[in-house]
Amino acid sequence: MADSFQAPRGTRDILAPESERWRLLVQRFAEAAGQAGYAAVIPPMFEDLGVFERVGEATDVVRKEMFLLAEREGEARQALRPEQTASVCRIFAQHRPATPWKAWYAGSNFRYERPQKGRYRQFDQVGAEVLGTDDPDVDVEVIALAWRFYEQLGLRQVKLLVNSLGDGQGRADYTAALRRHFEDNVDALSAQSRETLQVNPLRVLDSKRPEDAEVVAAAPAMVEHLSDEDGEHFARVRAGLDALAIPYELSPRLVRGLASSTRTTFEFAAEALDAAQNAVGGGGRYDGLVADLGGPSVPGVGFALGVDRILLACDAEGVFAPPPSAVDVFVVCTVAGTDSLVLVDELRRAGLGADRAFDGRSMKSQMKAADRSGAKVAIIIGSQEQEAGVVAVRPLRVEGEQRSVARADAVRTVQGLLGTAG
Ligand code: AMP
Repeated sequence: MADSFQAPRGTRDILAPESERWRLLVQRFAEAAGQAGYAAVIPPMFEDLGVFERVGEATDVVRKEMFLLAEREGEARQALRPEQTASVCRIFAQHRPATPWKAWYAGSNFRYERPQKGRYRQFDQVGAEVLGTDDPDVDVEVIALAWRFYEQLGLRQVKLLVNSLGDGQGRADYTAALRRHFEDNVDALSAQSRETLQVNPLRVLDSKRPEDAEVVAAAPAMVEHLSDEDGEHFARVRAGLDALAIPYELSPRLVRGLASSTRTTFEFAAEALDAAQNAVGGGGRYDGLVADLGGPSVPGVGFALGVDRILLACDAEGVFAPPPSAVDVFVVCTVAGTDSLVLVDELRRAGLGADRAFDGRSMKSQMKAADRSGAKVAIIIGSQEQEAGVVAVRPLRVEGEQRSVARADAVRTVQGLLGTAG
């Protein structure tokens, strides 16, 4: 016997009904984003490594978790994308669309992580980005887009955390103050955080390692170092959230993945999930990122929401059940020939969900399959029906008696029963 294979470590096979729920989630997001004036963008699954390095030099994601592709002579080193904001900014720099450019995306990302529940090596995100404006209303708009999306799925236990990381001199002063704080306490930091400190002290705030907790908690807060302009920007973001009655918590030590994060930063935590993996989304501003990627100096703001974790949160809250995946009608046919093929095709072209049995099964076995399919109606073709040019229409999950109708009236009869005529 040949060796059998399993899905690679950190990946999952998503089968029905979960796969259907997954697709519905992405569809709902697409609708919500479309309704807010965002158009889809489809970045490549891999980029030149430099694109990701520019974005997150000091982050674990870029330093340790990249899925590098094999080196090819004469070509830049490439990597599978660990997230999509970098690609979206690279796309902006390359194509220069008119601003504000509002784009949404959905798809898989790859990080070489230690897998556990809610943390995978291939995981999916839906996200949205707005490039070309630093209007605080846009920060509020993207937060609201994510917030209303969670709400629409039925989630009620999502907490919004917000912070401002400032920019310019205020940010530089703060970074210096942070560096001093961590250097003064360097002995109490984990080895990883000591390393991170060398590259970017802000990133140390993001450490979830228990040994760092105390020093991180005592670190100075950015909000105390905001310039007047950044303080005003943040105040307007908060006022906007208040106006929309979106509740939030100020989280003065919240920082996120991007090295070039500026100003507004936010995260969504699902309180129904274990604290270690409860971030169901996050985002913020990255006003220098497009320029870092060789583009014009345009501000940007956006978010990415983790599809895998949102669905875990939905399970934990008992909301957003898988959609019913039943067909409308099931064709049971016990005669040889093409009757079944033709009728099923006709039904489908009329917009009905139609399925059938194969392999010339017995009537009994086909009726069982019809029942399992969840179809509301069965159409039966036996030898008697075939000879008489009729079909038997049997309601399975709608009111009514079985009746015999002319073959030519089959589709119309089913539509009548389902109330989908015309
Ligand atoms: P990040 O870019 O790390 O802030 O990720 C944004 C969102 O993607 C997080 O809030 C999670 O919901 C999700 N996410 C990130 N990494 C993973 C992973 N390894 N497995 C599952 N979901 C993830």
